[in-house]
Amino acid sequence: MSNEDKFKKVISHAKEYGFIFQSSEIYDGLSAVYDYGQNGTDLKNNIKDYWIKSMVQLNENIVNIDSAILMHPTIWKASGHVDAFNDPLIDNKDSKKRYRADVLVEEHIAKIENKILKEVSKAKKRFGDNFDLDQFSSTNPRVVGYKTKIKDITETFSKALESDDLISLKKLIEDLEIVCPVSGSKNWTDVKQFNLMFGTKLGASAENATDLYLRPETAQGIFVNFLNVQKTGRLKIPFGIAQIGKAFRNEIVARQFIFRMREFEQMEMQYFIKPGTQKEWYSKWKKTRLAWHLSLGLGKENYRFHDHEKLAHYADAACDIEFNFPFGFKELEGIHSRTDFDLSSHEKYSSKKIKYFDPQSNESYTPYVLETSIGLDRMFLAVFSKSLIEEELADGSKRVVLKIPKILAPKKIAILPLLKKDGLPELSKKIIEDFKWDFNTVYDEKDAIGRRYRRQDALGTPFCLTIDHQTLDDGTVTIRDRDSMVQQRMTVDEVKTKIKNELDIKTWLSF
Ligand code: ATP
Repeated sequence: MSNEDKFKKVISHAKEYGFIFQSSEIYDGLSAVYDYGQNGTDLKNNIKDYWIKSMVQLNENIVNIDSAILMHPTIWKASGHVDAFNDPLIDNKDSKKRYRADVLVEEHIAKIENKILKEVSKAKKRFGDNFDLDQFSSTNPRVVGYKTKIKDITETFSKALESDDLISLKKLIEDLEIVCPVSGSKNWTDVKQFNLMFGTKLGASAENATDLYLRPETAQGIFVNFLNVQKTGRLKIPFGIAQIGKAFRNEIVARQFIFRMREFEQMEMQYFIKPGTQKEWYSKWKKTRLAWHLSLGLGKENYRFHDHEKLAHYADAACDIEFNFPFGFKELEGIHSRTDFDLSSHEKYSSKKIKYFDPQSNESYTPYVLETSIGLDRMFLAVFSKSLIEEELADGSKRVVLKIPKILAPKKIAILPLLKKDGLPELSKKIIEDFKWDFNTVYDEKDAIGRRYRRQDALGTPFCLTIDHQTLDDGTVTIRDRDSMVQQRMTVDEVKTKIKNELDIKTWLSF
């Protein structure tokens, strides 16, 4: 199946099984805005919980806050968002389609990188065990040529972006002969800067209204509360403040389902440290965050780091954790060493002293900040797309199964009476009454048992319990595992212990 087909399946499965709906669908939808359905909301909440447990509950020195979406407008001046939160946009005159100029160049580079990968995989097959990747990459004329090309493009590209040179950016797109994927033409407009913040108004009458912005990131709510939290929590550096919340960006191109939305959620953590220790903390948080992702078992090969060549105005080091989405490796999480940029800037703009007093050294200083920032919706897409699998079974039939990491699955247990009679539904309901205190449990009595298993597979429910006549006699049930499809007979208490063990957060988050 092509990646494009796979992605289409992901989108249609998300809708069909109540995970994600287009926002305002009955009014033909609102572009790049989505609603989470009954199962999507459970999955999303479980991801939040997994993040907050590992970030806050397991770290004595990291606390949680929930700041408002609406903030004083000067905050966005201080943070640099009013002046610098822009994306370069370009239009194709024939298709009238709008693109991000930087993304067009990045995709061109990705195509050349793919050519290198193809050469490598061909050579691997040819040379077998004798294949030496380093030697091949540095001597094969085609690969060397591609690498030089990438280096040249990257140099020109970085220079243009760093100096905001939009003319050179357009020239690069023309020189690379990049065509519009819709019209196939190279008929481009000039590149323009476009600010991504959504504006809104505060106030009852038009004359007295104040212009505000919907926050484009949650981080600033943490910075402006730095002293409040540090003082009231009597926190000592190093310490962190975590927050999950909505952010809004008027994205120019928003075509990849929940990967790029105009309203989305971020899970951010700002770690306040002593100046000079940022390198050490940067590498520690890179390791910790990757370990968090790997703990879910979606496959090591699906993650990679991408170091930023062009650093944002606030950073002295930055990288992304990229994930292998159905449309290729793309940013899932950012890790940024933000220096003292934000706190110093808020100190300047607010004229309030924002310093930390170190009781040990008896000195005051502006802390440096290490940030980890992950998009909750992107994390959802990563989990959902990697878990959706079409399997061929031994008898030749197929099943669609959502092998979501069990700890994140929306519903944990489905209780299924074998028949809709003989007291089996009543007994099933009694078992639910017992299980629902510990696990998100659902009941299903409609259709043949095989079809009910398939339905729960498609929803990602890890365990199905079948209640039959033997249950009436000896209190045992059949437990079926979603992934292996193995069925075992055991008592209800044994089932409870087994499921508790498999969903033990300690096992999942001990890394
Ligand atoms: P991109 O380069 O993809 O636009 P970014 O570098 O602007 O992303 P950050 O500002 O670092 O993103 O935001 C932190 C995280 O928030 C990202 O890693 C991503 O997971 C998430 N995120 C950013 N923009 C969006 C969006 N429009 N929709 C969904 N998630 C987003």
